[in-house]
Order: sequence, then C-alpha cells, then structure tokens
Amino acid sequence: MTRPVRVRFAPSPTGPLHMGGVRTALYNYLYAKQSNGTFVLRIEDTDSQRFVPGAEEYIIEALRWCGIFPDEGVDENGKMVEEPSEKHPYAPYRQSQRRGIYRKYAEELVNKGYAYYAFDTAEELDALRKEAEDKKGTFTYNYASRDFLKNSLTLPEDEVRRRVENETNWTIRFKIPENRTVKMNDLIRGDIEVNSNTLDDKVLWKRIDELPTYHLANIVDDHLMQITEVIRGEEWLPSLPLHYLLYEAFGWQESQPRFAHLSLLLKPDGKGKLSKRDGDRLGFPVFPLKWINAEGEISRGYREDGYFPDAFINILALLGWNPGTEQEIFSLEELINTFTLERVVKSGAKFNPEKAKWFNQEYLRKRTTEQLVADFKASDAGKLVGYNDTYIGAVCEVIRDRAHFVNEFWDLSSFFFVAPASYDPASVAKFWKDDIKAVIPRVHSFICEKINPFTRENIEQQLHELITSNEWSMGRVMNTLRLFLVGESKGPGVADIMFLLGKDEVDARIKRALNTLG
Ligand code: GLU
Repeated sequence: MTRPVRVRFAPSPTGPLHMGGVRTALYNYLYAKQSNGTFVLRIEDTDSQRFVPGAEEYIIEALRWCGIFPDEGVDENGKMVEEPSEKHPYAPYRQSQRRGIYRKYAEELVNKGYAYYAFDTAEELDALRKEAEDKKGTFTYNYASRDFLKNSLTLPEDEVRRRVENETNWTIRFKIPENRTVKMNDLIRGDIEVNSNTLDDKVLWKRIDELPTYHLANIVDDHLMQITEVIRGEEWLPSLPLHYLLYEAFGWQESQPRFAHLSLLLKPDGKGKLSKRDGDRLGFPVFPLKWINAEGEISRGYREDGYFPDAFINILALLGWNPGTEQEIFSLEELINTFTLERVVKSGAKFNPEKAKWFNQEYLRKRTTEQLVADFKASDAGKLVGYNDTYIGAVCEVIRDRAHFVNEFWDLSSFFFVAPASYDPASVAKFWKDDIKAVIPRVHSFICEKINPFTRENIEQQLHELITSNEWSMGRVMNTLRLFLVGESKGPGVADIMFLLGKDEVDARIKRALNTLG
C-alpha cells in the first residue's frame, strides 16, 4: 500500500535561514507538489539555548517571499497553527508546544530496554572529557563506557526509581546496540552501512527542562505526522544510523520514512561550505532576506539586493539538481513538473555569484513593461512622481537590457527625469574641442528646425545624413550630444534619449550646455 506523500521542512529557529535551508524547503515543496502530496512546516525549537527571537518569523516570511506556501503548519496569515483542525490535523507544529508528548516515548524505550536513565552530572561528564583529553583521547558515552557510569544499567533498581522520582538532573539516553552493522538507504546516496560501535548513546530526553532533544522529537514527530520522505541537509547524515535504530526500537519500521540527504552548497571556489563570510567578502547575500542580529550586525538578503523571488528559486533549484537538459530557466510550475530526487547530485554544488546575477537579468528581461514600471516605482518611489506610466515605461524599455536589477534603473536613467546639473570633466576634456565647438550650433539648429515629426526614426536617419554629408565625425558629434543631454558619456542611443526627452527639452539642454561650457 502506498501512502500519500507527506514531507516536511523542519528548521530550528536558531538564526536566519541560510540559502541552503531555503533550497531544502524548495526541494521538499517540489517533491510534495509533484506527488499531490502535503508539505508540512514544523518548527524544531526544543533547544532553548540556541533559540533566537525573530528567527521563526524570518523563516516563514522567507518561504512566503519565495512563493513556497506550506500546506500544513502555518496559516494564511503566516502564523504557526496551534490548534488541530481538519486542514492542520497534527497541530501544534512547534515542538516546544508539543513538549507533553515526548516523555512517554522516551520511557517506552527505557521499558523495552532500548534506553536507560543516566544520572551523571554535567560536571562529572566534563571531568571525564578532560581526563581523556589529557591522555590525548576522547570520552564517549557509549557501549564501552556506559557500564562504568552512573545510570540505570549500573545502579540498583530501587536507587534508580528513587532518583527518577526525586531528582531533576537526569536524562534518558539511547542504548546503541553493540557491534551491529546498521544498514541504511539514502535516495540520493544509495546503500550505506555503519558499525554501531562508532555511535554514541545520545540523550533523548532531559528531566531538567522536560524537553526532548532533536533526535527524539524529530523521529516521534515524523512518525506521528506520517511523514513519508525526509529530505534534509547532508549535515544530518551522521544522525541517520541513530534514526534508523530509533525507528527499529519503536517498532515503526513499516512506516519509516525514506531519506534523502542533500549535499552542501559550496563556496565559489568549491573549497568548503558557503558561509556568510564568503558573501561579505565577495559581495553577495547568503540569506533570502535581510537580517539584523542582536549585536546590530546586518546580513544582506536576496530580496533587499533586488532579486526577483522566482529568479532566486530558479538559482536554488539548479544548485544541486541537474535537469539532464540544457534548460536553465525554470518557472516554479516547470520545476514541479520536472524535479526528481534521482537527479539530485551527490557532490556539493558550487555557488557562482555572477551566474546568480545572470539569472536575475533573465527574469528582468521576461518582465512586461507594466511590471517594470511598477517595480521601478516601488524601488525609487519619490523620484518618479509627476511622470506618467507611459513615459516611465518607455524609459524602462530603453534601459532594461543594460540592467541586472531594477535597483540599477535610477542610475541608468536619472537623466530622463532630471536635467544634468554639471558635466563630467573627463568627458568634457575628451569631446568639447574646437572643431566640435564649431559644429554643434549647426547640429542644434538642425535638430530644432529640420527634424519633423520628432520621431526616433527621423532623428536617427536625419542626424546620420547631416553628419555624413558634412563629413563630420559621427562618434564625436554623437558623444558630445550625449554629454550635453546626460551630463556624461554614457547612456543609451542618442536618438532614444532625444526622442524620449522631446524636442523642447533637447533644445533646452543643448542651450544650457553651450552656455555653461562656452
Ligand atoms: N531541525 C533540524 C534542522 O534544523 C531538522 C533536520 C531534519 O530535517 O531532520 O535542520
């Protein structure tokens, strides 16, 4: 019997979501959507030491910006669902609010002999670690050491009972079976085997705060929420043997999810994991949205840097998934239809910041004029007031091919809205020479008197004729005109500039330049 697909993204709110985390969420989402399955968001916040205020909100907002909407766990307003309902049957989805359910599972394992109570204090364990380090070794709570430590395997039964009832400083640890080959399967990596003696007896539950650790809460919740596939980052691969053993100990193998571990996102040079420091050093974001930490340190975000969310999703999709064709531009819809876990690559995916910009430019190219007008107004609100959408749209069309981001539009086009107040001295020195000084007044009167109607084609054609018939230098005349109209020697074609500005404004700008430069 095949079960309906149910996958989850289960971040811990320990800070802003790294772009690798968004990729994990995306792959889960794509997998769920193409299987008519359910995508669940679960917040794994049982480690109160690492909890960071605002991180949960950040995660939800980042997913929404990307257009990744969980089916379960979070409501239409972006709030974590706290009460069970038909749509959200397993609520609450925040593990700190589920704390009541985990103890009985941990104790079930103790009763079945798969786990034990451990009474060693933090100080005692630290001392053991220190002692081992002094001897250049490491201390591990495992098959070899547990019989010599303070736990329910070594202490008399009545003492164990008394301490469990009266003390608050104990934990429940998983009893890793001795010398077993744990056989596992990963959908991306294939079969994996690990000898159980390499594993340690992880804490599952802590009496002190009555909270489970990640491992227990994660397995219990995946089971209760009927998760069918666990798609997560490679950093969890070392936990897989323990997770297999936990499913076995609970007797849940029948419904155990299948696992897929995604390889890391690597630095542009491929040497190591992509970090915020790489982003700061090389000038690109590693987070979907801007984040300000408790120290006031700012991390830039793709959203604030001007990336379109669909471009960002496209970039992430191809970092670790190979469509098997030359196609690079994929809409979310296309990704849902073509994504497969089989084509997720085993090796790490190098992040290429230049390619990321290229993707955004491709999405910029695909936008309609109306969309660009709206984008431009949103990014430079105040400055465009007083100009109508037709004019702003025409400007966007002239400059769009030279931009990677809408936030470059103002710099590329400000002269369409504000006449130059000064002239770039280097350009003046280069173009404003005696021979041209004699020519420009003639070009000026020709423009004002002869070019009618003042269309792009007429401007282009007639100026060309004028300049060639007089054997003037095309480049020098055009560059001087551009300098007069723009204030420097950059910008789109002179005919485009003149046509959009209109004859009166062109006349005024040439007059002003002649007056200023003499
Ligand atoms: N809470 C874990 C994390 O922060 C989830 C790991 C998993 O998906 O099992 O990545």
